[in-house]
Amino acid sequence: MILWILLTVLAFDFIFDQMVEYLNLSSMKLQVPEEFREMLTVDKLARSKDYHRENYLISLARKTTFLAAWILFLVFNGPEQLEGSLSMLGYQGALLGTLFFGCLALGNQLLGLPFSYYRTFSIEARYGFNKTDFGTYLRDLAKGLVLSMTIGGAVLYGVLSFFIAWREQAWWMIWIFLVVVQIFFLAIAPVWIMPLFNKFTALEEGELKDRIFAFSKKVGFSFGKIFTMDGSKRSSKANAFFTGFGKSKRIVLFDTLIKSHTVDELVAVLAHEVGHYQRRHILRMMAISFAMTGFTLWILSEVLFGASLHLATGQTQESLPIGMLFASLMYAPVSRLLAILGHVFSRRHEFEADAYAVHRGESPLALISALKKLSVEQLSHLTPHWLKVFVDYSHPPVLKRVEAIRALGNS
Ligand SMILES: [Zn+2]
Repeated sequence: MILWILLTVLAFDFIFDQMVEYLNLSSMKLQVPEEFREMLTVDKLARSKDYHRENYLISLARKTTFLAAWILFLVFNGPEQLEGSLSMLGYQGALLGTLFFGCLALGNQLLGLPFSYYRTFSIEARYGFNKTDFGTYLRDLAKGLVLSMTIGGAVLYGVLSFFIAWREQAWWMIWIFLVVVQIFFLAIAPVWIMPLFNKFTALEEGELKDRIFAFSKKVGFSFGKIFTMDGSKRSSKANAFFTGFGKSKRIVLFDTLIKSHTVDELVAVLAHEVGHYQRRHILRMMAISFAMTGFTLWILSEVLFGASLHLATGQTQESLPIGMLFASLMYAPVSRLLAILGHVFSRRHEFEADAYAVHRGESPLALISALKKLSVEQLSHLTPHWLKVFVDYSHPPVLKRVEAIRALGNS
């Protein structure tokens, strides 16, 4: 019975997802929007559409493969067999559970590998984005694997140990545990983890640095340290981000961003990022994410210990890892709803951060041209379907942002 519910949930999630993606692809028109008249041609738009179609197809292939793999795994009692084999090898308790999910994660990784390889070395390469060589790709994979096995494994072991020892009381202890772990990694990631993947160099003296410091003084905001990152090692796509807090707080500019933008545009982008801090978006999003973690753990615990899930799944004995797996698969629709809610807040924050930059005296035109440049360079979808935006977009579509910034400039 529960197997059928699970398969229905998985299938429904897949169909909904594909419907949204298809609508979104179909809403790409070969008509240059007024705003982009000077930077885009119909040819370039057609190229962008091809890029999105290729990405859509490979993602469809990947999601179909994963759906088929899950169905086979569940129908042929994969979870019970995996647990049985591990227990025959002498493992039990939290260690057994950790290995159980470790095997699933490894399987997941292997299954996804051909798709990720094709995307990087075929699609991204043909459209001129990929700068990764095979050596870097392999090293990234290896480092990611070691990190998730050690850190991920230790955290999972902790979670399972709490559940085993305190059962239905464990959820709020795990909640506190996960919040502490998350804050700890936010603080150490810029110093200990990110340098494993990229080289960070202090921003060199010059006009850009002077202008950033002038802005920082004007609005009374300390940037912490300012770094450039060798994003060009992997991709020509540009970005900038704030990370860490306290002593590890820093702003990172991709070398690709600096290369393709004017100083005015770069300062406008940074002013937008400062807006996220000053308007307390970072804190608010963290609070929302912590609240969602708590809610998820509470539901998981109710399903695991309240509803006697093991009886419903037809198992004679209660199994924590299998229960957790089933509960989390069934949780997919709720988790999608929570993500949508998070995006609603996030999109509102983007408008507010744009407004902050303009109100603090940054040129609306510089901000607009930075946004447009980024969209054109990355072959972004300029007219996404509203349902895709509602479900998946953490940032509003670029034309909506430009429209809002122009309205600010006129007022
Ligand atoms: Zn933003």
